[in-house]
This record gives sequence, structure tokens and C-alpha cells, in this order.
Amino acid sequence: TSVEEASVPLRAAVSALPAYVPGARVAAGSRAWKLSSNENPYPPLPSVLDAIARGATEVNRYPDMYAGELVEALAAHTGVAPENVVVGNGSVAVLAHVLQAVVEHGDEVVFPWRSFEAYPIAVAVAGGRAVMVPVQEGTGRLDLPAMAAAVTPATRVVLVCTPNNPTGPAVHSDELETFLAAVPRNVLVVVDEAYLEFVRDPQVPDGVDLLRRHPNVVLLRTLSKAYGLAGLRVGYAVAAPGLAAGIRAVSTPFGVSHLAQVAALASLAPEAQGELMQRVDALVAERTRVTDALRDQGWDLPETQANFVWFGLGERTVERAGQARESGVLVRPFAGDGLRVTIGEPEANDAFLSIASTWL
Ligand code: PMP
Repeated sequence: TSVEEASVPLRAAVSALPAYVPGARVAAGSRAWKLSSNENPYPPLPSVLDAIARGATEVNRYPDMYAGELVEALAAHTGVAPENVVVGNGSVAVLAHVLQAVVEHGDEVVFPWRSFEAYPIAVAVAGGRAVMVPVQEGTGRLDLPAMAAAVTPATRVVLVCTPNNPTGPAVHSDELETFLAAVPRNVLVVVDEAYLEFVRDPQVPDGVDLLRRHPNVVLLRTLSKAYGLAGLRVGYAVAAPGLAAGIRAVSTPFGVSHLAQVAALASLAPEAQGELMQRVDALVAERTRVTDALRDQGWDLPETQANFVWFGLGERTVERAGQARESGVLVRPFAGDGLRVTIGEPEANDAFLSIASTWL
């Protein structure tokens, strides 16, 4: 039985938080395809499993608090110095730390909507005021001019999700340059590149180059998607040294577990890199196959540079997600708005394509 209710009030911002709805989990033994959480369908590489098994013998000790070896490997991988890298328990935790490091109570945080559902939660928890700027109708592209126009003297942070989860398009260099030129330099611009490795559009800027020219930019990256380590929780920020130090200062002590650190290091080893990026290429090829097939079926889809496709189904969204589930495919509904479907293994994608063909 539960304990009695306490009379301690929660912070008003906490009582009002929207729920972060996780994608459905597949029950053990179930035959459902899981295309609901933008995960990587491939199992961990043998070398990563070996590293985890070896690391498991050491878990009676605390992990390296600041994950020094991993930070060095990520810095080398990214082309920056270790002082520019901060790791965390998934990039969602790193985002929370970024906001805690810079947002004063009541500061405005501008972000696109619809976008990553953790944004409004992280902003409210940090004590910020959410200023949500609608993405462009139909194309699902961020409206950067409108986001720049939403910046006021009270704005402390702008979140730029590229490619945008859940709509799919990525921001182009010219748009982002114009945007950065319009935003005051004391406003932090967080460029969330969770799906970076899936981008094939040459008009998408190189984040590090952007950061070198605009030190008020922070890049947010993750090993959950292309690297297939969602279950271990490793994300990182790339930032100017003083900002990185501030983010590190508010981070949870020992926030990245030992197993996560060793698995991430093994994934960044050159041989593993090669194999993992081949898998990403295979997923990108599947993305092309799936979006071509859907367009042939007659669907009008926004362009996607990520490992998912967006269907703006409006009021039919929840019903369609239910039908997909009954046919053995889990997808992610955003009620009243649209459906996000992850690109998975070919059989999963085929199963979804045959469901989608019955919807038109
Ligand atoms: N940013 C975006 C845009 C995402 O879609 C996600 C995952 N859904 C994340 C950040 C967080 O990823 P993680 O915490 O697993 O690193």
C-alpha cells in the first residue's frame, strides 16, 4: 500500500508540466515492429558488447566523474578540444543542464512547435518561459524568420531542432546564418543535432564550423540514434569553454554510467565507426525507399533528413496509430496533429508500407 499524501506543494511550473510520452514498449515475445521511438533497429556491435561485458566487472566502483577518456574521444571525433565537450545521461539531460546553466527565472526560451516534446518540459523545469513558434504548415520546416522575430530583450535561449523531430526537415546554412546574424550575441542558440548522421542534404551547415564563427551556439548531440546506444544514455554538448564549464558545473555528478562510457568509447573506435556509419547508410537508403514508396501511394510528405517520416493526419492521428498497432506496427501519434514513423529494418518498413497503403 502507498503512503499518505503529503501537504507539501509542488512548484507551480512542475504541477503544470505536460507529460513526456514514451513510445510504447514491445512486450517480451511480442511480434510487433517498434517504429515509435526513432531508435536504431540494429543490435549492438560485438566489440561494444565485449566492452560492456569487460566494464561490468568494474561496476562496484564509481565511473570516471567527468568521463575524461570519452570526452577526449568525442572531442577528437568532433574536431574540438576536450574543454569544449560536456557529456550527460542522454542529450535530453544535457539540454536540461544547458538550460539550468543560463536561464534565470522568467527568462524567455524560444523554440519551434511542433518539435521535440522534451523542450517545453525542460524549459519549465529550468524556470524559463516557453515562447513557441509554429513550424511552417505543410512543409514542417522551422520558421527561422518568425523565431528571430520572437526574440525580445527577455530572451535567453533559442532552441533550433535540425532535423526537426517529429516533422523531419533540416535547417539550411543560409537560413541559419541570417538567423544568427539577427539574434543578439548574448542569446544562447542551442542547435539540437540528434539526427545529424542521417543528414544527406549538402545545404545543411556543419555545426562545428557554425560554432567557431558564432560562439553563442551550443551543439547538442547523442549516441542514441545513429550509434544505437539509446538504452545506455549518452549525449553531449559542444560549446565555448566558459559555457561548457557552466554546463559541467550543473551536471549530475557521475551522470554517465561506467557501462555507458565504455560502450560509447568502443563505438567511437575507428573500426566500429566504419561499421556503424554503414548501418546509417543502410537506414538512409531505407528512408529513400520508404518515402518514395509512400509518395507513389499518393502521400504528400514533408522532406525528411532524419530516421523518421511525418504524416500530418490531424484528427485521424490516434485512430491510425491504433490501426497500425493492431496490424503489428507501433508508431508514435501526436494527438490531433500527426504520426511519426521511424525508419526501421526493411521487414518493419514493409509492414508499415502495407498498412499506409490502406489509409488512402
Ligand atoms: N533531441 C531530439 C531532437 C530528439 O529527438 C531526442 C530523442 N528523441 C533527443 C534530443 C534526446 O535523445 P537522448 O536523450 O536519447 O540523447
